[in-house]
Amino acid sequence: MAQEGKSVVVYEAQENIGGGARSAELTFPGFVHDVCSAVYPLGIGSPFFRSLPLARHGLEWIQPPAAVAHPFDDGTAVTQERSVETTAAQLGSDEKSYLKLMAPLVAAWDGLDIDLLGPLRPPRHPWNLARFGLLGIQPARRLAESRFQGERAKGLFAGVAAHSMLPLEHWCSAAFGLVLGIAGHSVGWPIARGGAQKLSDALATHLRSLGGEIIPNRPVRSLSELPASRVVLCDVTPRQLLEIAGDHFSPRYLEKLRRYRYGMGAFKMDWALSGPVPWTAAECKRAATVHLGGTLEEIAYSERSAWRGESAERPFVLLAQPSLFDSSRAPEGQHTLWGYCHVPHGSTSDMAARIENQIQRFAPGFKDLIVGRSLMPPNELEKHNGNLIGGDINGGAADLRQLFFRPTLKMYATSVKGLYLCSASTPPGGGVHGMCGYFAARKALREMF
Ligand SMILES: Cc1cc2nc3c(=O)[nH]c(=O)nc-3n(C[C@H](O)[C@H](O)[C@H](O)COP(=O)(O)OP(=O)(O)OC[C@H]3O[C@@H](n4cnc5c(N)ncnc54)[C@H](O)[C@@H]3O)c2cc1C
Repeated sequence: MAQEGKSVVVYEAQENIGGGARSAELTFPGFVHDVCSAVYPLGIGSPFFRSLPLARHGLEWIQPPAAVAHPFDDGTAVTQERSVETTAAQLGSDEKSYLKLMAPLVAAWDGLDIDLLGPLRPPRHPWNLARFGLLGIQPARRLAESRFQGERAKGLFAGVAAHSMLPLEHWCSAAFGLVLGIAGHSVGWPIARGGAQKLSDALATHLRSLGGEIIPNRPVRSLSELPASRVVLCDVTPRQLLEIAGDHFSPRYLEKLRRYRYGMGAFKMDWALSGPVPWTAAECKRAATVHLGGTLEEIAYSERSAWRGESAERPFVLLAQPSLFDSSRAPEGQHTLWGYCHVPHGSTSDMAARIENQIQRFAPGFKDLIVGRSLMPPNELEKHNGNLIGGDINGGAADLRQLFFRPTLKMYATSVKGLYLCSASTPPGGGVHGMCGYFAARKALREMF
């Protein structure tokens, strides 16, 4: 909106701007932890972010040699490398199948990205999108089991697909494995030098350079608290929108918003360590992101349990080790570690010991290195950021019904003229990529100016 010359004011509930992309010294001074997001395949791959001068405002992406590492109980690991061929070469008898699945999609990413990271609309590249759609609509488990024979390829794909926060037996869960997998080969899974906050700070600096204003510590509880303006864009989920503007909506729209469904939550942990994680498989040191769960079977069980309201004894753990690649994150010789597992929506179970056991399983000696830890169960996450309802980090379940049309068929528009939604509860959904805001702003510009 600001780039189009409109005057913009941002009201932010918290003291610091950034929402899901913030950093803080959660354990000790000198240890910079990413409070929510930490790794940015969709950030670097975002067509909108790419169009902004973020590097000039201090954002520097760091690309670890590999996107993801996935260790197994036999002491080995598979890494998703930038090269499709080098990745496939680690997969034994599944080498050809991996190449056949990924290579054409990776070749098509440039162009497919704008079709995938946005609402359903006439595609720019119909053939590539159709090819992606036929694969992506499948349950991740079915796609992995129909394409691969070995545990290494199936496990690698399951770990990436589990970012969907859906059971791997659910329709469309394969789409997440494919989008993030293709991004891993095409643009990498980078971290931001200095922490997630640097990305938000760069966005804020750009907005201010265009004349925009940011007012922190200003939770908006009702539309009546806002100054008169032609357009209001709400970066909130449907539940908050009902509180803020419910009185203004048509009964039909109200009903639809009320029926919006949230998904499972996250149990987030951060550690200060006296040394790097002592992985059994040395390959794990090549990636900032490490997926802990071994086989497809174990990962699928963990995700199914969380969806059903149970906490798995061996949860699938998503880990990031930014200080291995960015020395500004911790005092010399020491390290930060970031991780979470999926838990039932709003769960109050303490998953700390189970998460640490999973790390210890693939890195014996890990527990001896812990000098500090921070825990954020779903209710803490929600306190820290009102958008994380019940710990749901995606702004609502991204299942078949809500993947394309979220939160309602109107998507960014509401039943009130000039009032729009622009959060992860709109397409293309969760992740730090700015595309929800980009498409919401385009719609508002078209309709209101
Ligand atoms: C633990 C965790 C790990 C994650 N890891 C990754 C990752 O590695 N990579 C990735 O791409 N994504 C990751 N995500 C997801 C990503 O952070 C979110 O999907 C993304 O930030 C959603 O963007 P958003 O604009 O919808 O909401 P947010 O980024 O949450 O921003 C919403 C903003 O609105 C403010 N707000 C809310 N209500 C009000 C109100 N009433 N008045 C004023 N201000 C208000 C909030 O304080 C917040 O600043 C992670 C999230 C979590 C929680």
